[in-house]
Amino acid sequence: MAPESIVDHRARAALEFRWADGALHVAGYQLLRSNCPCADCKALRAIPRADSVEDVHPATGPSVTNILPVGAYGVQFVFSDGHDRGIFPWAFLRELLERGVSLRAVQ
Ligand SMILES: [Zn+2]
Repeated sequence: MAPESIVDHRARAALEFRWADGALHVAGYQLLRSNCPCADCKALRAIPRADSVEDVHPATGPSVTNILPVGAYGVQFVFSDGHDRGIFPWAFLRELLERGVSLRAVQ
């Protein structure tokens, strides 16, 4: 199911997702970029590399420049590094956000 709202907090380099069940998640642009589910990014992430996108500091990493709805299916993020092939189905996005939040909570 789609979130009720997506708010772009550009100053914090993060997007805020509010869901119908009351859940609220804030995801840094970097979390989204580094978990892009497109085939190219999946292939890149399968290769351990010193300069992988996960290692880019959030403040200097790519930002989200556009948020495009993909019907009822999900959302497509356009990133400032020119990458625009990542379509995030809602269920995938929700799971990613819940993992991202819990990862931050245990740090
Ligand atoms: Zn990608």
